Amino acid sequence: MDNERPLLAAVLGNPISHSRSPRMHNYWLKKNKINGYYLPIKVELEDFERVIRSLIKMGFSGVNVTIPFKLSAMKIADECSDIAKYIGAANTLTFTKEEKIYADNTDAYGFINNIKSKYADWCPKKGASLVLGAGGASRAVIAALLSEGSDKIIVINRTIEKAEKLKIQFENKINVESWNDLNEIAASSTNIINTTSLGMNDESFIPINPESIPKDALVSDLVYVPLETNFLKMARNRESRTVDGLGMLIHQAIPGFKYWFGKTPISTEELRAILVK
Ligand code: NAP
Repeated sequence: MDNERPLLAAVLGNPISHSRSPRMHNYWLKKNKINGYYLPIKVELEDFERVIRSLIKMGFSGVNVTIPFKLSAMKIADECSDIAKYIGAANTLTFTKEEKIYADNTDAYGFINNIKSKYADWCPKKGASLVLGAGGASRAVIAALLSEGSDKIIVINRTIEKAEKLKIQFENKINVESWNDLNEIAASSTNIINTTSLGMNDESFIPINPESIPKDALVSDLVYVPLETNFLKMARNRESRTVDGLGMLIHQAIPGFKYWFGKTPISTEELRAILVK
């Protein structure tokens, strides 16, 4: 152990018991022999800012925030990264020595770096990207694709109005199509990304015809329980390249760990095995 006073960080959410972040950060703390702790904290919406201010006073280095605090986190921050501003939400707060709050969003970084760690040659500029969903995760994926130079992004969402709002937010850099045209759009896409919660716990299905998934497409699913969703299984059976959501979860956590604990952790098979338990 290389420091005397333990370094502290946490994840704030509501609910929070399902979060895999404590397992992940505590694994990295142990692996890197860092004297520190990462705690899950359930917080009521109205208490959010008060809890953050208390954690700063207690000497915490920073926190991750999850649903429903990603927007509130931006509001209380003294400074926000460009990508957090672009996405309009933060998931990683770092507290400075002056007790200021720096807000970042690492989901876009996690999405891109996870894919590149598996397929180094992946280039989202090639061909069209179909993004299913128009929630918070979709915003991060769209920002990530745009930052990689992708100029053909099509968003399909059950509630089309939400996708239309994203089109305005992203200054018409994306196209919106109808949920009913899913098969047709998928068939001409090079990247297909599920950012909806469909497929979670095997309880629901994306209503897509397997034949519509191009064999040369890269198919990603942000859902990570189960690890191989029915959508990814379908894509694997088509011999398409697939990327699961657990990798993104791990990669989005790397910048936070570096900010708070000073070392860049790595994604390992051992960590993945711990997280799927
Ligand atoms: P969100 O803001 O609540 O958005 C949910 C999205 O799912 C919306 O587009 C919603 O469509 C769609 N949806 C939900 N139920 C549906 C149904 N029955 N049929 C069709 N569409 C449906 O949630 P989020 O924060 O974006 O998260 C979405 C998923 O991504 C979750 O499973 C989350 O765990 C996962 N995620 C993973 C990572 C990672 O690191 N791997 C990171 C972030 C999120 P409507 O607009 O029509 O309701």
